[in-house]
Amino acid sequence: MNKITKLVARQVFDSRGNPTVEAEIFSNNISSKAICPSGASTGSFEAYEKRDKYKKDYNGKSVFNAVKIINKIISKKLKNQNVHNQEKIDHILLKLDGTKQKTKLGANSMLAVSMAVKKLSSKIKKIPLYKNFLIKNNFSLPYPLMNIINGGVHANNGLQIQEFMIRPDGAKSFTKAVNMCFIVINNLKKILKKKKLSTSVGDEGGFAPMISSNSQALSLIIKAIKMSGYVNGKDISICLDVAANELFKKNKYSIHSKKFISIQKSITEYLKLIKKYKIKSIEDPFAENDWLSWNKFMSATNKKIQVVGDDLYVTNLERLKVGFLNQSSNAILIKLNQIGTVTETIEVIKFAQNIGFNTIISHRSGESEDTFIADLSVGTNSNQIKSGSLCRSERVAKYNQILRIEENLGKKAKMNKL
Ligand code: PEP
Ligand code: MG
Repeated sequence: MNKITKLVARQVFDSRGNPTVEAEIFSNNISSKAICPSGASTGSFEAYEKRDKYKKDYNGKSVFNAVKIINKIISKKLKNQNVHNQEKIDHILLKLDGTKQKTKLGANSMLAVSMAVKKLSSKIKKIPLYKNFLIKNNFSLPYPLMNIINGGVHANNGLQIQEFMIRPDGAKSFTKAVNMCFIVINNLKKILKKKKLSTSVGDEGGFAPMISSNSQALSLIIKAIKMSGYVNGKDISICLDVAANELFKKNKYSIHSKKFISIQKSITEYLKLIKKYKIKSIEDPFAENDWLSWNKFMSATNKKIQVVGDDLYVTNLERLKVGFLNQSSNAILIKLNQIGTVTETIEVIKFAQNIGFNTIISHRSGESEDTFIADLSVGTNSNQIKSGSLCRSERVAKYNQILRIEENLGKKAKMNKL
């Protein structure tokens, strides 16, 4: 048994420069650290992120209270626990919190601790982190969903849709997948420059040109794919995250232009986009409580595309079960801090895979140098990972980690199935 001997936390900063929680856990002289990420377009059913709302020194965003909770309360409870017993440790955290949305301890303090425990367990076992989840052998690597044009609340360019992504479906290795995305991104940069559009980037590393129509963004991407010598819909697919929570008012949506239109018309417009641009995956096409529209959309797309629930499910097993019964989607986005512990995240992934859903492990728009999600994606046999563009170190760090895993697997490395 390897006992936890010490647990400390501190306030560090995320990729937006906002405060976040880092936990560091010790078993004698061996230690591991983990940093909690943070979202901008959050679902209202996400676990609670504890911030010092009334403190002025960081505009109400500091996390000193969450840090104090780890240092003063959680550390005492976890001392002498077996670091390899992740489930027990996470249950201690859940019991200590005792609330539905983790408002007492804060999901940010709980998750930083939970991830640090998993990392320390791997370190002590002397195995790579990806080998310490569900899959023990026969690993496969996820396809990256690279966000190459940012809009919505992740940029201030007036684009309605939050993320325009590419997925290198034709890649036979992760190295090749990254290479294909690299080529398309570089060509997109050239095209933007030629059109005198900005090549500055948004929160997730994708370009944030001052364009305001979805079709303009999609046409630019199609052009970049062609210029790269790839076939759209075969070698490279276009995938979207609409983040429709942000575009919903009085039962109408402003997804396709700034004008709010009915659900039926929104679906018709979606079908046109899917056909014209051969779109393969759409995340959060409707708002988090609009179950009926999700179901209508699933029927309308007739299982031909991947429909992904992010704000809809918030990595929550109860909401996923509702979505399954309602036939709301066929894939789920997995974000650890939406639920708050590693154990609960794994439970959701297992359930999703058992009902035949694709699992897509995801970063948050506020990220850090922590690469936990890269290992999680391989260690759970998730067939996709979404970690932004091939730009900004906090995004690229995750792709770099999968390149290392690919190298570590050697001849056994293979891509997952889409
Ligand atoms: C998303 O919506 O999928 C996303 C990664 O953004 P955020 O972290 O802001 O929720
Ligand atoms: Mg999303």
